Order: sequence, then structure tokens, then C-alpha cells
Amino acid sequence: MRYTWSVAPRAAARLVSALALALAGAWGAACGDEPRTRAAAPPVYVPDASVVPDAAPAAAPFVVHVLALSDFHGALDASAASGLGGAEYLAAHVARRSTGASIFVGAGDLVGASPLASGYFHDEGAVEALSAAGLALSGLGNHELDEGLPELLRLQRGGCHPVDGCRAAATFAGARFRYLAANVRERATGETIFAPYEIRTFGPARIAFVGMTLQGTPQTTLASSVAGLDFAEEVSTMNALLPRILAEGATAIVLLLHQGSRQTGSIDACDGLSGPIADLARRLPAEVRVVVSGHSHVAYNCLLSNKIVTNSGAKGQVLTDIELRFDRASGAYTGGAARNVPVTHDVPPDPAVLAVVDRYRSLVAPIAREAVGSLAAPLRRAESLAGESALGAVVADSMLAATAAAPALADVALMNSGGLRADLPAGELTYGAAYEALPFANPLATVSLNGGELLGFLESNLSSPLQVAGMTYAYDPTAPAGARIAAADVVIGGAPLSLAGTYRVTVSAYLFDRLAIGTGKVTSGEDLDAFVTYARARSPLAPPATPRITLR
Ligand SMILES: [Zn+2]
Repeated sequence: MRYTWSVAPRAAARLVSALALALAGAWGAACGDEPRTRAAAPPVYVPDASVVPDAAPAAAPFVVHVLALSDFHGALDASAASGLGGAEYLAAHVARRSTGASIFVGAGDLVGASPLASGYFHDEGAVEALSAAGLALSGLGNHELDEGLPELLRLQRGGCHPVDGCRAAATFAGARFRYLAANVRERATGETIFAPYEIRTFGPARIAFVGMTLQGTPQTTLASSVAGLDFAEEVSTMNALLPRILAEGATAIVLLLHQGSRQTGSIDACDGLSGPIADLARRLPAEVRVVVSGHSHVAYNCLLSNKIVTNSGAKGQVLTDIELRFDRASGAYTGGAARNVPVTHDVPPDPAVLAVVDRYRSLVAPIAREAVGSLAAPLRRAESLAGESALGAVVADSMLAATAAAPALADVALMNSGGLRADLPAGELTYGAAYEALPFANPLATVSLNGGELLGFLESNLSSPLQVAGMTYAYDPTAPAGARIAAADVVIGGAPLSLAGTYRVTVSAYLFDRLAIGTGKVTSGEDLDAFVTYARARSPLAPPATPRITLR
């Protein structure tokens, strides 16, 4: 596509920027209105005559459909709870809505914390399925970095896993979609790890897609997985790119941002919005017409600060269809609207994606079905008033069992509730079910803490009390922070905690990052392996007979 510039591009871009900045304040008050045409900003170029359809009525806009997805999390299969989703149906809905000018894009966390069918294959299944579904571009999410940058680059470019090899086929081709990462740089080179943006041309429209993950990604990801990477603030990153993007003739910007809010209404509503996305939308430049957000796993469809702001929830159960309208002559953006649609099964599944998904389903079936033990009673994540869960207690038991012997010599184990992702029903325990409960493959670390450090760590986590093994504790939630647990409230090996004593404490690598203290670190395997080994040896598993966490 060629464009003839009516004025020098850089000068034009500066003009557009200046006008946009001047107008941004006035538009701030327009929150909730339909996006409006920017009357004061004239088009800065005229498109080739050949790209303007001949018989189009002057008033009819050129329409582009942006189909958007976030937080797919390797969900090749439909949700058992909602009956929605399934990659082959997601693809069918994408295809059905891809009439005329359209593009399918993502906003991160497409992989990571995935079900076994994708996770066992290091998410090659999700990448293949989304590629076959026609995904073109995606912003990066925090989970894309779960296994570090080299593994993410492998998913993008192809090649076999360095340890597990190619488990699903002789080779892995990599993603046909392109990740965008405007705010993630390698410290050593100063370069972004992927292109910051890509401009796609649709008839007269030139849409810049900019990809970003949340600045707080290091707080959600293992330190070892994001070592050497810098995560920049989202709005300043966008502002810095804006002149370049406008100079390249973009007539609208769609931000694929892995950050999001929550709301209380239906998937297509914007009720009681809470979280950072409204503030981000307010601070982003006016040229950003759409923010495809994610991360919160809550679907919404909002108009915020004159921007369309969407989220498709999680696991491919909802697809966002964003209609953008452009002036046929100038390519100027004239407005748009979005719709969140449930990924129902009343359409024929996409055959190409179904073939991919079926291959992974059949490969994983014997692995998922393998019995590794049994449960005398369900192990659930539901917590007592004091914050203890049956699943958390037994997982902590398995961590302690895996690390009690030399060289780790653990006295106690601590488990964060956020790492527990599925309940386990009574009866046979399969590898597949254990995997769903512990999908992060978190390495275990054992360190020495003195009694004061251990007490402080328990206290600082009371907003979501740590699950424990080898110890009990009580706390007073009404006491001021820092005084909710006393040494006498913590019992280890039958004795109250000694502030001066030394304890060997096993935690997941995720918790170890947050602990950030301790000496004599020993690492030993991963949490899932510890749990499976424990189940094989100690079944039938049952919740602890007496509570370990109580209120004082
Ligand atoms: Zn996320």
C-alpha cells in the first residue's frame, strides 16, 4: 500500500501531536460518550485512488473488525464450568466475524498456567492452535515470561525444548503470530525483546498495534525468569512511541495491554469498574482509540476517556469484536464500538484448529489418566475463617516430605494459596488432576531463617495466610499490622517459636522471591513432582485432622 503525503510526514506528525495534546484535556470530560471524530485534526495524507472502493456512498465508513482475546492460558478445551470456549470454537467465532477487513489480536497470557494438554508440551499446543486460528499479533503478558526469555523466544521462533525436546512432533515451528513488547527491554542491549508495534493497512485505514505487558510483571513472575529485563511504565512508553507511529501514517492506535480491571456486570457491561485500567485510559494519548486489556480475567466492554476499553476474560470463553470506522477518503478514524461475544458451540468447529487440538488431546490422554494415588476426602482450596485450606495443607505436607531429608533438612514448609489452581475430588487422583491443582512447576527452595524472620514472613502474608506443614500458628486479625502474631502463637515441633532459633524453611521459588532472605539455600525439584511423589507414597491422602491456622 502506497500513500502520497500532502505534507512532509514528520511535520504532519508534529502537527497532529500538538493538536491531540491540545484537545486531550477537553476530551477528558467526554468519558462515557461514543468516540467522536476529531474535527480539528485534518488528515495528513491522501490514500492511493486504487484503495478507495469505487461505488461506495460518501457517507458509508470503511469498517475494520479487530477481534481480540487475552489470557487464553493454553485453554485448548472448553471450560467444564461454563461450557464455553475450546480453541476450535474460538477459531470458528473468529472466522465467522472476520468478514471484510479484519484482524485477530491478543493481549497476553496466551500461554502459561495452562491445562496439561498444552502445559505438558510447554504450550506448543496453544501456540499452534492460535496460529491456526489466524492470530496475527499479541501483546506480551506476564505469563509469557514464566519460563524465561529464551523459552519465550523459542515459542515465537520455533525449535525443541532444551530439556524435554519436542514431545508432540519431530519439530516445533513456532508461532505464526508476532509478539509485540514495547515496554520490555533487555538491560544488556537496551533493545525491546520484540518489536514495539506493527502497523497494518486496511483499505484507507492504517492501524498501529502496540503491545505492552504490565510494568509490575516482575512482581508476578519468578525473579530468575525476568533477570536482565527492564519493564517500563506503560503511558510514558506509549507517549515516547507516538511521534514515530504518527510519522508512519497511522490513523488509529490499538493498544494490546496486559493490564486490567474488574467489573460486576455481564461480559458486555462496564459496571462498578475497579482497578488500574480507567486511570491508564485517562492518561493515554487521544490517538489510542482502543485498549485491548487483560490480566484480570474479567470480561468488560467500556468507554473510558473516549477510548474503547475491552477485556475478553480468560481461557477463550469470550471473544471481543471491535468495529472501527474510518473515512474512506482520508483514512481518518471516525468512531467505533465493541461487543463481547461468548464462545458458544452452536457453530461448526474450525477444522484446522480441531486437527491441532485433537492431536494434543490424544497425546496427553494417557499421561493425564495415569493414577498417582487416591484421596480419602476432597482436597479443596476453600479456606477456613483463619485462611487454611485442605489442599494447601496437604501440598505443604508434600513439600516438607520432599525436603525433610539431607541436604535440605527442612523443619517446616510454607505454601502460597495463589499457587493452588484447582480442587481435587475424592477418589482416584490422576496426574492430570494433580497438574491442574499445581500448574506452575515451581521449584522448591529450602533456606535457614531465624525465628524473628519466620514470624515476620508469616505476619507480612496475613492478607492471604500462608499454608503450612510441620507447624501451626494463630493470629489476631484485629490487631495492628506487625502485632497480629506473637512468637508464642507459632508452634514448631511441639515447641513455641524461638525468636533466636534457626529453622529450615521450604518454600516455592515464587515465595522465595518475596521472602528475599535466608541462608544455606538448597533447591530440590518442583512442587508438582513433590506432590505426585507424596501421593504415590502416602495415599489415600486426607485433610489434616486438626487445624493448623487458627484465629486468636
Ligand atoms: Zn496476567
